[in-house]
Amino acid sequence: MKRVLAGAALAAMAFTGSAHAQQNPQAEAQALELLKRGLAFRTVAGPGNQTPDYAAYLKEQLVAGGFDPADIRIEKLGDTAWMAARYRGTDQAAKPVYISGHMDVVEAKPEDWTRDPFTPVVENGYIFGRGATDMKYDLSTMVATLIQLKREGYKPKRDIILLASGDEETSMKTTAALAELYHDGELLLNIDGGGGALDENGKPEIFGLQGAEKTYADYELTFTNPGGHSSAPGKSNAIYSLAHALAKIEAYQFPGEINEITRAGFVEGAKTADAEMAAAMRAFLANQQDPKALATLRSEPGLIGQTGTTCVATMANAGHATNALPQRATANINCRIFPGTSVAAVEATLTKVVGDPELKIRTLESGSIASPASPLRPDLMKLVSDGIHARFPAVPIVPAMSAGASDSMWFRAKGVPSYGVSPIFMKGSDSFAHGLNERTPLSEIAPSITYYKALLKGLTK
Ligand SMILES: [Zn+2]
Repeated sequence: MKRVLAGAALAAMAFTGSAHAQQNPQAEAQALELLKRGLAFRTVAGPGNQTPDYAAYLKEQLVAGGFDPADIRIEKLGDTAWMAARYRGTDQAAKPVYISGHMDVVEAKPEDWTRDPFTPVVENGYIFGRGATDMKYDLSTMVATLIQLKREGYKPKRDIILLASGDEETSMKTTAALAELYHDGELLLNIDGGGGALDENGKPEIFGLQGAEKTYADYELTFTNPGGHSSAPGKSNAIYSLAHALAKIEAYQFPGEINEITRAGFVEGAKTADAEMAAAMRAFLANQQDPKALATLRSEPGLIGQTGTTCVATMANAGHATNALPQRATANINCRIFPGTSVAAVEATLTKVVGDPELKIRTLESGSIASPASPLRPDLMKLVSDGIHARFPAVPIVPAMSAGASDSMWFRAKGVPSYGVSPIFMKGSDSFAHGLNERTPLSEIAPSITYYKALLKGLTK
C-alpha cells in the first residue's frame, strides 16, 4: 500500500511544474517526425490512394523501434489497406487491449487551401495539413508511444494491438475486416474519439470520453402517381402526399431514452449548465418522458441527439415538368438512432407515423451498423481521469455519446467495449477537421505521449 502511495506521489511530483518540459524527448521528436512524414502521404480514397504506402512506412518505423516484423500484418483491400501491429504481452491467456485509429483522410483540394494540404507545414506552434487533426496526429503520438515503451523495455502483461483502418472516412470496409479478426479484446481505445475543449483563452473546459455512438441511417420515402395534365388535377398528388408525410414526421417525437453513458453525461452537465437547463437535465434523469424536460433539452441542437433517436428530412425531389401532375415525389429522412433500437424498427416507426398505404419506404445502404453503448468501466474511467487531470487537474471528465459513425461501432457490435480517449485539447476556433487548413497545436505532442504511456501501462501492467 505504501509503495503505491509513494509511486503516486512521485508521479504527481513529476507532473507538477513541468507542463512544458519534455517528458519523453526521443518519443516527442519521433512523433513530430512521424506526423510530418505521415501528412505527406495522400491517403485519400480513390486513384492514387497512398494508404498502403503509409502503412508500410509505419511498419518500417515500428520494426526499427523494436517490433517483430512477424507481429505486424498489413492487408490490402481495394485501393487501401489495414494494419495490425502487436506489442507482445507476457501472458498469452490475458485478453489483449486494442487501439484503434485510421490512416486515411478526407479529400482536400490544394487550390482551396492556403498551404498545400499534403505538405506538412509547421508555423506559429501549429502543424498544418490534411490529417493534422483527423487523425494522423494521434496516430503518430501513439506509434511514438509504443516505440518509447519498447525503448524502455516495458513488458505488458496483455498484448497491445494497434489496429489501423484505411477507409474510416468512407466505406469502413477495412474496419469491418479488422473487427472480424480482432474481437476478443478486453477493450478498445479509439484514439480518434473523445478529446478536450479549451475556451478561447486556452482554459480547459471539458474532456469527453466517447463510450457510445448512434446508428446512422437514411430512409428514402417515395410516392408515385400516374400523373397527367396539370389543367385537370385529380384527387391524389404525389407532392401533396409527400408533403403530408413530411409534416407528420416533423411533428413526431421519438421517446426519450437514456443509457449509462448519456446518464453520466447529464449528471455531469447538470453541475455546470444554467439553472433552467440544469433543472431540465435533472428532470430528464428522473423521468425520460417528462415533456417539459424533453422540450427544453430538445431545443438545444447540441443536446437533442443525447435524448433519443432523431430523424429529419434532408433532401427532396419531385415532379418532372411545370405543367404536369407529378408522377414521383421522394425525400430522404436521415436518422441518428439511439443505441438499442434497430434500423428496421425505425423504418417501421416512420411507416406508422406516415400512415399512408401509398408510401414506399426503403432503407439506404449507409455503411453504418447498430452498436450497444459500452459500459462505464471504473478502471478505465480512473486511468483516463488520472491521465487528463495530471495535466488539467480540475477539468470535468464527461462520458459522451457521439452522433456516429466511428470505427468503434464495428468493435462494439462485436462485443468489444470501445472508448474514445484522445487526449488532445483544442479551441473551437482551431477545429478544422475535414475542413480547410486543418491544424493542431504542437503543444499536444508531449502531454499525449505522457498520457498514452500511463494509460497503456495502467491497462496492461
Ligand atoms: Zn477520424
